[in-house]
Amino acid sequence: MALDVTDLSAGYGDVTVLRGVTCSVSANSVAALLGANGAGKTTTLNAISGLQANVSSGTVRLEGIDITRMPAHERVEAGIAHVPQGRQLFAFMSVRENLELGSYAPRARGHEKDALDRVLSIFPRLKERLGQQAGSLSGGEQQMCAIARGLMSRPRYLLLDEPSLGLAPIVVKQVMAVIGQIVAQGIGILLVEQNVALALKQAQYAYVLEHARIAIEGPAAALQNDDRVRKAYLGL
Ligand code: ATP
Repeated sequence: MALDVTDLSAGYGDVTVLRGVTCSVSANSVAALLGANGAGKTTTLNAISGLQANVSSGTVRLEGIDITRMPAHERVEAGIAHVPQGRQLFAFMSVRENLELGSYAPRARGHEKDALDRVLSIFPRLKERLGQQAGSLSGGEQQMCAIARGLMSRPRYLLLDEPSLGLAPIVVKQVMAVIGQIVAQGIGILLVEQNVALALKQAQYAYVLEHARIAIEGPAAALQNDDRVRKAYLGL
């Protein structure tokens, strides 16, 4: 039971960003995808969810099913949810409306009430703010709302792009605690994070993208002690 990316090459137009990336996330686990700015982390998520990036070769398989060439909406239907960098909420719509949009996929229809109850149990803060405009939420609440919207499609795998970006340390802690709760519900998470120390704490396994390929990979605990990771990404 896994989301498997195999030998994936992808980019935008003539620009190749990924050359033969292989990585995998199992259900019930967090895999971290790390790397410097511009290394191609977001592009990897885009290639998995079917947004923007063009895949030139390689495959993306969701529990054995080849989704590499599926349009994005069919991938949502297959069980992928992408929570993009910058949250991309509909600022002038309420929290409730943003969440409802997350359950638009056929796989979620008829389960809206259950899905809403489930996400509100993970994010009790949002319950008090269902009627509030999403754009007026604090940064942390907006991130919670974006993750909650992703969960409303009842995904098997969640792609999380920089959830800690721009948040105060205490709020980052809250967001990370939520990741643990989501995994406990049987969802696999591919976590892109600039905050490498944080990501390695949260993940079971981690990949480091360098020069368009996975340069280092291993159990997160092992990467915390890897000299290359410590020097280049942990500043030690
Ligand atoms: P960051 O941490 O800065 O977000 P990243 O590792 O997520 O970086 P990507 O956003 O995947 O990196 O970008 C990888 C490369 O692809 C960069 O050189 C970037 O300029 C380029 N790129 C990203 N999006 C596009 C696009 N829509 N069109 C053309 N080039 C793009």
